[in-house]
Formats: sequence, structure tokens, C-alpha cells
Amino acid sequence: MGLRWPGRRSSFGLTATVSASSPLTATLASDHGPTSPRSGNSSATRQVNCWPSLLTQCGSMRRASQRRSTQPARNAISSSHDSTKDESGMLALVPEILEVERYRQAAETVVGRSIAEVSAPDAWFLKRGLGPDEVVAALTGRAVTAVRRRGKLLMLDTDGPVLGLRFGMTGRLVVDGGMPIVGLEYGPERTDPGWRRFGLTFDGGGSLAMDDARRLGGIELWPDEAALGPDALAITRRQLASALSGVRAPIKAVLLDQHRIAGIGNLLADEVLWRAGIDPARAAGTLDDDEVTRLQRTIRRVLPQLMARGGSHTGDLQVARERGAVCPRDGTPLERRTIGGRTTYSCPAHQR
Ligand SMILES: [Zn+2]
Repeated sequence: MGLRWPGRRSSFGLTATVSASSPLTATLASDHGPTSPRSGNSSATRQVNCWPSLLTQCGSMRRASQRRSTQPARNAISSSHDSTKDESGMLALVPEILEVERYRQAAETVVGRSIAEVSAPDAWFLKRGLGPDEVVAALTGRAVTAVRRRGKLLMLDTDGPVLGLRFGMTGRLVVDGGMPIVGLEYGPERTDPGWRRFGLTFDGGGSLAMDDARRLGGIELWPDEAALGPDALAITRRQLASALSGVRAPIKAVLLDQHRIAGIGNLLADEVLWRAGIDPARAAGTLDDDEVTRLQRTIRRVLPQLMARGGSHTGDLQVARERGAVCPRDGTPLERRTIGGRTTYSCPAHQR
């Protein structure tokens, strides 16, 4: 028997291990790509949460965000709240489930604190009939007892009402003055006091606030959790089977339907279907038992993986989200269709 290095040793030697809970903060020089007049960066550097291996992607993401529309926010209501401009082929970071989970983790630090002051300067941002006086009265003096998330909805439980925060496309959480995620596609990288839509100040100092340049997110009390399906990060096979059973709509449309499964946006839907080898246009109810199992396992595996990598835009299919691209798995030219109202990339060879 000849002696051979089993490869294992060398691969271990080369593998850097990073913890999912501790993304590194990289400081990018302000001349790292073009800067639009609108971004108005006055500081020499920008703080960007990036994984070491993703610096190039983060740079691309920033350049994409710098090219975004300069239309004002007020009339920019859109149904596309969770994804990139696919046509650009650029990487994007929008508050999908993985980003909101990072917000939730950051907000854990306010559990146990009492709310001294509530700031609700933007009545538009208060939803479901909530008024500024009402939200101030309901939350002032209350203690935060838990921070929860279901899909893309972040909730603060108090010893009074439940506070719901929805981030839309450009909503950013600010905890004790720090931002868990700074750069978002469709959202500016700088901050502006005028974008502060809601804020809590706690007894003894500290705060939790929400900035939203485009005002597509919102604040509500007693959010309707029952309207949301099971959370995608924790979905069981039984829950997935139940969500798909007898449904004629395309599987991708079902994955995007927050009432059926909460948290999956456009990028994640394409990624999991591509990895599971399932055609996004298939009627959801036609998936057999093995396919349901495969899809559920893929969802449960892929979401934490992408969160560890840095977000929804870090999938293996992401690099191929552009016209003329080929399947990263088998080299087949990808199909580009609109399914469930969203631009969809899939492989005609291995997705059936
Ligand atoms: Zn393929």
C-alpha cells in the first residue's frame, strides 16, 4: 500500500474558520468605487459589515447601491420588497429573513430595559390605524420582555403591547447607536437624521430606532402573527408538506407567499429550488414525498449557511443572476422567467 497524503490534512491547514455570530467589520476607503453625489459621504471611510472572503462582493454590492434610483421615497411603493434588481446582475442586500434575523440578534440587548421615551415623528410610518399619540402612550414606561422574529417581521414583546417592526426594502435597525447592517440595496449608505422614523429611548440610556430612507417599512402594535406561515428558518417537513399540498400555484410562488411560509424572498427562493433541483414553475402540489423532503432539508441547510456567509445575496446561484449566464453546477444556459411576479433564474437541465 503506497503512502499518500489524504488531502485532508492540507485542506484543514488551509481552511479558515469563522464564527457565524461574529462578522468582521471591514473599513473600505471612500475611493473604493465611484461615489454618487447623493451618497454625500463626508467621512474618509465607511464601516461595512463584510466577511473576509466577501469583500469583493460587498464592493460590488456597494457599487450597485450607489447606482440606484434617485427618485424620492414618497411615491416609491413597490411590491418588490425583498430582492435585487435582477437585471443589473449585481449583488444585493435587502432585509430578507437572514438580515432581519441579524437585527433580532442585535436587538436582544434591549431585553429587560424599560422604555423612557417613544419618538414617532413620522405618522405615515405607523400602520394599521396607529397614531403617534397612541403609540407613545402605549409603550412609554413599558419593559421589553423579549425580541422575536417571524419571517421578516421583528417583534418586541413588552409587559404591554407587542411592537412590530417591518423593514420594507431600506429599513435599518439602530441599536444603541450602532447598525447591525449598514449597506442595503435600494438604500443609501450614509445616514440622515431625517430618516429616523421611530425610536425608543430606555431608562438609564441606550436606544432602539429605525431609519428608513424610502419609508417602505412600518411600525405597528399587535402585529397579525397568525397571518404569517411557519418561519422558514425553522420549518419542519410536515409544515412544508402542508403548505404545498393540493396547491396549483407554482412552487416558487408558494415559497414567496408569506402567508404560507414566512421569510423567503426572491433570491432565497431561487437559490433553494436551484439547489434542490426543482423547477420553480412546477405546481406546488405535484411535488412527491422525496421532493418535499429534499426541499425542506435544502431550506434548513441553505438559510443558516447564507447567514454565516453574510446574507441573502451570498448564494451559489447569485453569480449567475444575469442574462446569458450558465448554471454554476452543470454549465447549461439558465432560463430567465417571471414566476410568482418575480424575475426567476433556473436551470432547465437539473431543475425538474
Ligand atoms: Zn444546472
